[in-house]
Amino acid sequence: MIEKKIWDDIIQYLVSKDLINEVAYHIWLKDLDVKFDENKVTITFANTIAKEKFISSFADIIKKTLYEFNKEEIFYEYFTKDEVEEKKKSSSKKSKEDNTESNKGKANKENKSTSISNQEAYNFNQINYLNQRYTFDNFVIGKNNQFCAAAALRVAQAPGQHMNPLFIYGGVGLGKTHILQAIANYILTNKSNLKILYMHVEQFIDEFIHSLKNEQMNSFRMKFRNTDVLLLDDVQYLEQKDASMEMFFHTFNSLYQAQKQMVFTCDKPPKDLKDFEERVRNRMEWGLTVQITPPDYETRVAILQKMCEYEQRNVDEKILHFIAKNVKSSIRELESALIKIIAYCDIFKIDINSLTLEQAKEILKDQFKYIDETKIIQIDDIIRKVAETFKISSYDIKSKKRNASISRARNIAMYLCRELTSASTTEIGLSFGGKDHTTIIHACKKISDLIKDDELLRISIEEMIKDLTS
Ligand code: ADP
Ligand code: MG
Repeated sequence: MIEKKIWDDIIQYLVSKDLINEVAYHIWLKDLDVKFDENKVTITFANTIAKEKFISSFADIIKKTLYEFNKEEIFYEYFTKDEVEEKKKSSSKKSKEDNTESNKGKANKENKSTSISNQEAYNFNQINYLNQRYTFDNFVIGKNNQFCAAAALRVAQAPGQHMNPLFIYGGVGLGKTHILQAIANYILTNKSNLKILYMHVEQFIDEFIHSLKNEQMNSFRMKFRNTDVLLLDDVQYLEQKDASMEMFFHTFNSLYQAQKQMVFTCDKPPKDLKDFEERVRNRMEWGLTVQITPPDYETRVAILQKMCEYEQRNVDEKILHFIAKNVKSSIRELESALIKIIAYCDIFKIDINSLTLEQAKEILKDQFKYIDETKIIQIDDIIRKVAETFKISSYDIKSKKRNASISRARNIAMYLCRELTSASTTEIGLSFGGKDHTTIIHACKKISDLIKDDELLRISIEEMIKDLTS
């Protein structure tokens, strides 16, 4: 059975994994009219464009992911509002013919409530793009972002008065969009008289092209130049878009002259925007440029705790530490690991409070390649295993004794350490009573040569490897 919660969780999960772009989500998916009935999903789109866009861009990935989680065959039906109207008209006509008064009344009422014009459906407000969660309060400060967060807050408190523009750059999933929208959310709450415009640069480009085509350049110009605060996300996408870049240049100039605040985010510093026109690149550096870098371990744990707090979920600290230890470069990935756990528990009705670390590892096993510490083979495990096999003591193996059978066992142990651990020859040498790294190299060569001819030795080594790795 499919239900709204599962559908929403899956879509959130896809957005968090960047498999569905966040801007696209707001335009095409956020307000979709979706109905669920047992194993059937019925979607009613505002118009044919929306329906076709859904089928070409989102249907496959959503269906695939739903199946992965639900393992149930689901049937999908797509209609446009017009098609629904048509269907209703014909059924109401049929009821008229049937001459049943009650049916007629109901059909008319439904017709009315579903008739929203296409224009209305597309007339979205900029604010729709803002994620209510992206606030300063929900932004965890660490060494990696403290300067950026302080500058952003300053700008939000006194737009246009200090650092103009504020240019924020950093890698994917490190919080640039979050901090940019935090400025927007702050101003909306605290300075609601100011006109703010938050948008992704691709939307800027789309609107620009649309206005050109429809000869609406004046209203496009007015929209941007009348704003008090312009927040543009991912400006790197302006590269090689010459006409849009020109438009952007003029927009920048007029806002700058009028002391209106601008904040930009980007995946690289201004100097690396090689395909930007020199004069545009230059302007990017007129204000303050700040970088966000990947968070350290403590900050990663704090971010996960904050997310749990926001989601009002209690997740075992051990699980949070496990995720923080394994996901280092992107906060989005950190978040998506947690979302996967939450979605999994919701879907399979598991009480998240009592989820164990082992269960979490199982849920996340495809999410990232984690190092399972319980499976790491230690040098001492190998020495113990070899000593046991050759019925000598670990002490003998580590000693300087030159007796032939002890030397041979020692060489085998050294060889296994090279094969089964990531330790360097120097580290292995130290674990064998301070032997030189050349001794280890020599021992390994000796054993690999011996194995070629000595069938019994090969089998015995293979068995030890099997025992140590199982
Ligand atoms: P970017 O725009 O740099 O690619 P995002 O702003 O989209 O990254 O951040 C990815 C996710 O990580 C978002 O859900 C965001 O809320 C979260 N995030 C990033 N940095 C922080 C932080 N310092 N505190 C809390 N959440 C964060
Ligand atoms: Mg972003």
